[in-house]
Amino acid sequence: MPRPRFNRILLKLSGEALMGEGQFGIDPQTTSRIAEEIREAREAGHTLCLVVGGGNIFRGLAGAAKGFDRATGDYMGMLATVMNALAMQNALEKIGVDTRVLSAIPMATVSEPYIRRRAMRHLEKGRVVIFAAGTGNPYFTTDTAAALRAAEMGCDALFKGTSVDGVYNADPKKVKDARRYDEISFQTVLSDDLKVMDASAVALCRDNNIPIVVFNIREQGNLARVLAGEGTATIVQNGE
Ligand code: UDP
Repeated sequence: MPRPRFNRILLKLSGEALMGEGQFGIDPQTTSRIAEEIREAREAGHTLCLVVGGGNIFRGLAGAAKGFDRATGDYMGMLATVMNALAMQNALEKIGVDTRVLSAIPMATVSEPYIRRRAMRHLEKGRVVIFAAGTGNPYFTTDTAAALRAAEMGCDALFKGTSVDGVYNADPKKVKDARRYDEISFQTVLSDDLKVMDASAVALCRDNNIPIVVFNIREQGNLARVLAGEGTATIVQNGE
């Protein structure tokens, strides 16, 4: 069945998506490739905003395991997302895509503060808005920030770029005959505890009727294909 066309989308990029083949940090070739894909999506008429993670640099939970105070670790994780946001802004502006970084933790020297109406205005003007610093609160993740911003911006869908081509009934990297779903309901994702996004993000999308499209961002050209309803992906939505 063809997937519906989504006009305004929020693209969630995990920090790991920016590492390329590396084990840590930001790979400029990868940010450039993803920027190119975002430009193509814009040229195809889509309005895009981005939430970037920070796991390629720092995660609060990992910090807590090493003895950091959890909330402090989480703030460090949020700061990591700002670095990634600036890297994506740099890659996008290099190829002529107008962007604004809006940070949930005010950081006036490098970004605008997150103000919902301002973000909406940027989108109306055709800019790509990059949301940095997650929700601005510890004990959350950038998945939840993505669901929240998608709802606030009136997005038609949340696109989750991962390293697999959709949602499976078991980890396809470990289980040989794991089955991929074309479509699945929010309820099944939550009750079967499928690893799509964290439960609060999934519940927020369910309650606000925002489909989640899970696709492989590592495959070149995939964002445009999936947006056109062609590539391989799983759509998580209400109802069966
Ligand atoms: N974080 C947070 N509040 C938020 C978003 C993120 O405290 O609203 C922190 C948290 O420590 C998290 C880190 O920032 O581990 C990086 O974000 P995340 O793990 O979601 O990044 P990703 O896995 O997408 O790379």
